[in-house]
Amino acid sequence: MSTADKPRGGNDFIREMIRADLASGKYEGVATRFPPEPNGYLHIGHAKSICLNFGLAEEFGGRCHLRFDDTNPNTEDPEYVESIQRDIRWLGWDWGEHLYFASDYFERMAAVAVTLIEKGRAYVDSCTPEEIRELRGTVTEPGRPGPYRDRSVEENLDLFRRMRAGEFEDGTHVLRGKIDLAATNMLMRDPVLYRIRHAHHYRQGDAWCIYPMYDFAHCLEDAFEGVTHSLCTLEFDNNRELYEWVLDHGGFERPRPEQTEFARLNVNYTVASKRKLLQLVQNGSVAGWDDPRMPTLSGLRRRGYTPESIREFCNRVGVTRTFNIIDVALLEHSIRDDLNHKAPRVMGVLDPLEVVIESYPEEQVEALDADYWPRDIPKDGSRKVPFARRIFIERDDFMEDPIAGFHRLAPGREVRLRYAYLVTCVGVDKDENGGVIRVRCTHDPASRGGEAPDGRRVKGTLHWVAADHAVAAEVRLYDRLFETERPDAEDGDFRDHLNSSSLTVASQARLEPSLTGLEAGSHVQLERLGYFYADPDTTPERPVLNRTVTLRDTWAKVARQGESEVAKKAAERTAAREAYKAAQRAMAEGSEVPELEGEAKDVADAYVVRGLSEQDARLLAVDPDLASFFDAALAVHDAPRSIANWLTNELAGRLGDRALGDLPFGPTELGELVALVDDGTLGGTAGKEVLGVMVDDGGRPADIVEARGLRQISDTGALEPVVAEVLEQNAGQVAAYRGGKTALFGFFIGQVMRATGGKGDPQQVKALLKKALDG
Ligand code: ATP
Ligand code: MG
Repeated sequence: MSTADKPRGGNDFIREMIRADLASGKYEGVATRFPPEPNGYLHIGHAKSICLNFGLAEEFGGRCHLRFDDTNPNTEDPEYVESIQRDIRWLGWDWGEHLYFASDYFERMAAVAVTLIEKGRAYVDSCTPEEIRELRGTVTEPGRPGPYRDRSVEENLDLFRRMRAGEFEDGTHVLRGKIDLAATNMLMRDPVLYRIRHAHHYRQGDAWCIYPMYDFAHCLEDAFEGVTHSLCTLEFDNNRELYEWVLDHGGFERPRPEQTEFARLNVNYTVASKRKLLQLVQNGSVAGWDDPRMPTLSGLRRRGYTPESIREFCNRVGVTRTFNIIDVALLEHSIRDDLNHKAPRVMGVLDPLEVVIESYPEEQVEALDADYWPRDIPKDGSRKVPFARRIFIERDDFMEDPIAGFHRLAPGREVRLRYAYLVTCVGVDKDENGGVIRVRCTHDPASRGGEAPDGRRVKGTLHWVAADHAVAAEVRLYDRLFETERPDAEDGDFRDHLNSSSLTVASQARLEPSLTGLEAGSHVQLERLGYFYADPDTTPERPVLNRTVTLRDTWAKVARQGESEVAKKAAERTAAREAYKAAQRAMAEGSEVPELEGEAKDVADAYVVRGLSEQDARLLAVDPDLASFFDAALAVHDAPRSIANWLTNELAGRLGDRALGDLPFGPTELGELVALVDDGTLGGTAGKEVLGVMVDDGGRPADIVEARGLRQISDTGALEPVVAEVLEQNAGQVAAYRGGKTALFGFFIGQVMRATGGKGDPQQVKALLKKALDG
């Protein structure tokens, strides 16, 4: 797997644009900026913007400014200025000498405002905020001029000077651009440029009592700094026109900054908004901005995320203009991938259950060899783990009456203690309530190291620690902070959807003695339990571990537990692929895909729960490679049925003899493709065309769509004129249709689709035609 190379130098639409801008000589170099408002801590959404802006600067040999957009005196704080710098550095980026504060430009901004007034492009309005809103009109009604719109330049200059001098109360006057009260873009209806706020600014003190609005300030900040590409999220689409207007009339010649929008990062089961995160901090829903459950960079850091994993996550997410929601599983995947080769494997028990090995001598203690790294990680190193008569295992790893599929310890059953011996349960001790307090076992002395000389196999391997040698520790286990996928899109307050069991503390945990004195900030894997990070609360006597992420990846685990040789794995793969082909033939012939067994059955059952038909679920689960491809695609686009359909019907048909692993693209790209089809950006036929290109040449679907102009037209505004024209050109057929020949409807659809080059959204075309023909 790839890890966190930066920069990636991808092929998204922004990089294409920059290449074109440099090739045409529009700009001589690249200057980007990351412009946070210091009103909260940075979150994972900001990481996308940071990696994009700093990454572009690095790739194109330009510069990226860190600019604090501190034009709002009410919410800003030096604590945030500090934390933001710390987090960006931690992520691995450096702004060098380019640290700026928008508030340092207040004087220059005011000068531009005066220029606009002098040119008759701005005026002081003395209406109340309610009157201004009222006069602005609505989407369907143009605005109306208020009584102050035609004030003379002299009067405006005088009033603006007095606003600045502090002669007026908050809210009594504003400076507005004089643009167009009938503009379709509401933002162009004489936007407010300055307002009065008698407020203390954390850097400017009381020097100012007028503060510029975002739309006026932001483009000027970019222009003052010589920024070339001003990248922001899609919500600012409409603001671009105003951005241009201010620069046009503020006297800025080209080359000058231009705004380009991209889709913001949304991650499910969380909220990425500083305002909302602040509420969680303020009302104590979490312990602070750096609570490991928070999607803030400081929270993720304390959880054990590495900068490399977050950068790699941002790479994988890519940059597009399509709205989407990324599955938090993709973030978890990125950290697993990174810690896999960074976190040594050790043992610890979260919920200890005592086991006495009765056949093991009372006073004996053995030091057993244990490798820090599994075989597939090219690293060496081992430590000694003490083994003794009394050990702890995980309470979950024992069942007195084992259910089907439970392969761990139970009365009469033999299991492996990792690195140690095969042991067999010969009895249990209980308390007066019948609770198991101790398990009694015997061991096979010949199985030292974990393998029996006679080669007999056991199903379960358990982790353990020697009771009298273990280190007591606190282990904090985290779950999702919210229990719904889109807490801020649900009814009610987003805080109603907090997961009440997002934190569980294992206060009785015991770790192997090699972890004595573990330093805060270390990463380890506790075998079978997950990756953990030593919290800053760690003391020399007592480690405090945060679970970063569980191990989950079922298929990798199967391979590891079997400890099978490469050849055996390859044979399994081939067998699985054959089984898949047989299953597919069965489906094509209309007969049943045979029932699965073991892990594969569990996987299929889980797919059924997620909405797949029994048959589709078996088809996917029969081949572990296919199943993990499917899972990974779901991490990008959580639509099991669509993904299954594209994977088994469209993609499998194009594979021929190739395996999925030989394709020039991966599950992420398949997920992205299906997302584009599902959200209506692409029609089904266009989707298949894109898949064909991907199978042949690889590439990211969004790029292929842009390059080939395949984006589906579903915007009614664009389709309406086409429909009107088709009807006009076929007046005879229209008359016939209205006279009762309704079978002509299909003819009209065909004509409109042809006129759009096949890109019209059929549903929309149908609806528009119905409306136009039937009235
Ligand atoms: P929030 O709503 O959390 O306060 P913001 O956009 O208001 O976010 P800023 O401090 O203004 O916060 O953001 C700095 C930069 O980060 C902006 O350029 C913004 O576009 C970008 N950004 C913020 N959130 C995201 C996101 N979810 N995905 C990508 N970029 C983001
Ligand atoms: Mg904001």
